[in-house]
Amino acid sequence: MAVNRRNKVQVVQPSLVVWYKYGQFRRNRFCNRFWRAVPNVWTVNSNDTFEKFTENPTVSEADLKLWQNNKTGVFANSIANNVGWVRFPNDSSVLSNQEDPAAGPHTAHFELLISNGLSIPPFPTAGNFLSITTVLLTPTSRGSVTINSSDPFAAPLIDPNMLSTEFDVAGLIESIRSVRRFVSAPAWDGYIATSVTNATTDAELEAFVRSTTSTLFHPVGTAAMSAKDAGYGVVDPDLRVKGVDGLRIVDASVLPFLPAAHTQAAVYVFAERASDLIKVFWKI
Ligand SMILES: Cc1cc2nc3c(=O)[nH]c(=O)nc-3n(C[C@H](O)[C@H](O)[C@H](O)COP(=O)(O)OP(=O)(O)OC[C@H]3O[C@@H](n4cnc5c(N)ncnc54)[C@H](O)[C@@H]3O)c2cc1C
Repeated sequence: MAVNRRNKVQVVQPSLVVWYKYGQFRRNRFCNRFWRAVPNVWTVNSNDTFEKFTENPTVSEADLKLWQNNKTGVFANSIANNVGWVRFPNDSSVLSNQEDPAAGPHTAHFELLISNGLSIPPFPTAGNFLSITTVLLTPTSRGSVTINSSDPFAAPLIDPNMLSTEFDVAGLIESIRSVRRFVSAPAWDGYIATSVTNATTDAELEAFVRSTTSTLFHPVGTAAMSAKDAGYGVVDPDLRVKGVDGLRIVDASVLPFLPAAHTQAAVYVFAERASDLIKVFWKI
């Protein structure tokens, strides 16, 4: 949402204004950050997994009816109802060549999304599975959004540029090794049958990461916030677009870095703040 001083509250597509302005005059490239997610999948010695209904139309039909009639059953659940937030150890080789990109000493570097079955592709065709998708929360690769035309309604060029830093690749490889250590704990004895991936060396794991990693849909930073007097960034800390009169941006694009959490709550937080700023400005 954008708020225009002349027209009071007006909903427009603010990013177009920003891309146009900066693309036209500065040929600027904005940062654009995505989480990266890698599927780690094992076959299991149980048939009490999602596959019980995904591979059986009669059961999935019955489960759908259960949801429609009572809002219960497997469809009342999410695809990953257990999560973990994990830091690389301070002496991890992943952190040895660079400054820790996490927000603080207790901020997680990666997340575990634990599913009682297959969650994200590639999907084997049959069997029962456990998935622990590992998600890098502190990626250091930056993508870009650039304009391709002086027409503000022409589609921009979006380059997610995932896995373009050593840290991101090494971090995802370490996240895979970490969940493998996790499932080798005695508590899993007899449950886990085999790993669906047999990549083990650094080179094999890097190839696995590069061929299977996907986004977890949390892009931010295309209109990043920066200090009022900073020569970079798009909005100031009051969410006003720099160099444009009377225009604020209030959406996930203003976050300069990804929070180590799913982005919805962070958006709520600064949207509430924005509403206060706007009310004060207009003396509402
Ligand atoms: C598939 C998916 C799953 C996700 N899951 C989670 C999750 O589980 N937890 C979590 O925390 N986050 C999740 N996210 C991320 C979260 O949804 C986003 O970070 C958040 O919604 C961003 O908020 P926003 O206000 O920036 O943009 P949006 O929520 O996208 O809001 C933008 C709004 O602007 C409207 N709009 C666009 N153009 C115009 C126009 N020209 N005029 C008027 N209106 C316009 C759109 O219709 C939309 O309603 C998920 C995202 C995706 C895509």
